[in-house]
Amino acid sequence: MNTETGYRLELTGVFGYPVDENPTVVMMEAAFSELGLDWTYLTIKVPSESLGAGIAGIRAMGFRGLNLTIPHKGAVLQYLDEVDQGARIMGAVNTVYRKDNLLAGTNTDGKGFLRSLTDDAHTDPAGKKVLVLGAGGAARAIAVELALAGAASILIVNRDEVRGRELVRLVRENSSTHAEYLSWHDAVSIPSDTDIVVNATSIGLFPDTEAIPHVNFDTIRKGMIVCDVIPNPPRTRFLVEAEKRGAVTLDGLGMLVYQGAIAFKLWTGRDAPIAVMKKALVAL
Ligand code: NDP
Repeated sequence: MNTETGYRLELTGVFGYPVDENPTVVMMEAAFSELGLDWTYLTIKVPSESLGAGIAGIRAMGFRGLNLTIPHKGAVLQYLDEVDQGARIMGAVNTVYRKDNLLAGTNTDGKGFLRSLTDDAHTDPAGKKVLVLGAGGAARAIAVELALAGAASILIVNRDEVRGRELVRLVRENSSTHAEYLSWHDAVSIPSDTDIVVNATSIGLFPDTEAIPHVNFDTIRKGMIVCDVIPNPPRTRFLVEAEKRGAVTLDGLGMLVYQGAIAFKLWTGRDAPIAVMKKALVAL
């Protein structure tokens, strides 16, 4: 705290519309307190037509970092000085950070997923065969990062064929990962040589917690790694059913915390207190 003005010294935050229920403030404030940093995280409602002015504002005010959520992840690219490879391929930035005097953009969603895979499931995605349910923003982030990390193959399963094929194209054009599309109208059977299965749809998100992706669960084998992006509730019906078949499971809360932890490190240069951040989210 600046004792003369009473203000906190360093600003971070999120732009969204709507944004009221965004949980990130809770985990970032917990992390700043834990490390004794005089930083704060503001949840800011910014309509689409004001995004450019908003980014000019954070430049002017010297914000140290920013998250973007719906509907700004794609539109923000035009206002940044630099965007990394993954975010450029996805066409979506969720984190802005300072690089000298420039504003740089990245997407930590897929990177958070990878960290959960490596740190919690002790699995290197290189050479792995992956099946991704969904082709929306979360699926794009995960598929692109898996491809950049050297996954052998990615099978995209989605209801909407145009979106599914577009993600296959992105993976093929930007990596040497083999990518295919499978339409999703009946129960999906998981090919027996699949290493990692990811539910990257919104199926099962609170309050619709009884919903479950239409999968032939008897094709999930012991030892497969089965992941869900849904952070609330973390233990989805999808993961419960996969566990019953002997799968190793990873929940969306881990991904959410890690994507925030990667942003935290980019902003502050400090390792994020993962356990503290997770505890703050769970207490919500
Ligand atoms: P999008 O709206 O971009 O995509 C939603 C995807 O879910 C689409 O592929 C859609 O298929 C599919 N889908 C939705 N309902 C059904 C259904 N009934 N049957 C089959 N497919 C369905 O959303 P996002 O990708 O941005 O977000 C998806 C989820 O990921 C959200 O619940 C969000 O909370 C979570 N998320 C979690 C993060 C984390 O850190 N844990 C980070 C980011 C997101 P179609 O294309 O056919 O319509």
